[in-house]
Amino acid sequence: MYDKILIRFGELSLKGKNKMFFINKLVTNIQNICNIKFENIDIQIDRIFIPFSEENLNSLNYVFGISSFSPVIKSKTNLEVWKNIVLNLELNQYSTFKMNCRRKWKNFHMDSLELNNHFGSIILKNFSKLKVDVKNPDIELNIEIHKDYSYIFWKKYIGLGGLPVGSSGKALHLLSGGIDSPVAAFEMMKRGVKLYFLSFISPPHTDEMTIKKIKLIIEELNKYQSKSTLFLFNYTDLMNYIGLVSNQSYKIVLMRRSFYRNATIIANQKNCLAISNGENLGQVASQTMEAMKTIHSQTNLPVFQPLLTKDKLETIKQSEKLNLFNISIIKACETCELFAPNNPATKPTETTASNLEQELDMLLELEKKSIEKNIEKLHFKILK
Ligand code: ATP
Ligand code: MG
Repeated sequence: MYDKILIRFGELSLKGKNKMFFINKLVTNIQNICNIKFENIDIQIDRIFIPFSEENLNSLNYVFGISSFSPVIKSKTNLEVWKNIVLNLELNQYSTFKMNCRRKWKNFHMDSLELNNHFGSIILKNFSKLKVDVKNPDIELNIEIHKDYSYIFWKKYIGLGGLPVGSSGKALHLLSGGIDSPVAAFEMMKRGVKLYFLSFISPPHTDEMTIKKIKLIIEELNKYQSKSTLFLFNYTDLMNYIGLVSNQSYKIVLMRRSFYRNATIIANQKNCLAISNGENLGQVASQTMEAMKTIHSQTNLPVFQPLLTKDKLETIKQSEKLNLFNISIIKACETCELFAPNNPATKPTETTASNLEQELDMLLELEKKSIEKNIEKLHFKILK
């Protein structure tokens, strides 16, 4: 029944001079996520049209930068044609309606009010159960009139909002198989950031399931950016070496500092301007302010923490909504959990951390070797 999908992009139309940059990103993302050709996309000043299909309708739920979208019928600009379409709609399932006719072409011989009255009375005559309710109708029937053609629509789906992925630049996201970092990735993408993913694993302590979980999470997150790369960093040698340190309560801090040194090198290779993670202030020993200061000092890139202030319950709810929760709770061994000392330092200092690193005199050498040899790169595309 439908011909097209009308896509509205709210916030983006406020972008002034940069508007075209954002819209071009949005169009490219729609192309990639819905898998449609550029020539099938109709770009207008304040909206975009793509061909209708149920798959396209569903895929738009994964495109950031869209405020809402509606499946539309494209028809001739002609009263009789519209009447036929309206009479064929299954309006009896509703109790109340509202007509909303808008003339984009002002030369049409009836104005909006006349058109609303005209179609309002046609509906009242033909659908005995329906009543008019202009404030809170069950269905709002829209006819948008252009010179040669018009659009009829009545459904409006709310889009994801945010900014088109890629419009804010790139970041390297530290991804574990837990609940937080996947949700944090969604939040970063929502603000227009294209993400690369980095996961540290330590086989044989971490198992196949650890990797499988990470892959499943990226497959889900990749729906929002259509292509993703995962750097899978085999961290076993480094973990074992750091484990030799004299002050065991600093193990996690030292490991995290090493994560950030390595992440910075990979981020720079990929022109990422930031590192992002799933940290949450005060959640665990390594997420106190002291720990964050001591850990983040190892990178000169900004560290973005979209979940910093969220309550865990909020994050869990969001994780469920994003179909991530059931993956995150699959049992698997995580690098950090394996390595956690009984009494982790909650107020680590930079001085103690770097003194302990002096003790581990081969650390930097080993990091250099690992980054050359122990990284596997995996590419993800949308599965159709
Ligand atoms: P998550 O639920 O994301 O695992 P968490 O609540 O378990 O987070 P931590 O273990 O302290 O918290 O990890 C804090 C952040 O550090 C994670 O959100 C993630 O961004 C990063 N991180 C932790 N472990 C790894 C890992 N093995 N590989 C990559 N990043 C990691
Ligand atoms: Mg974790």
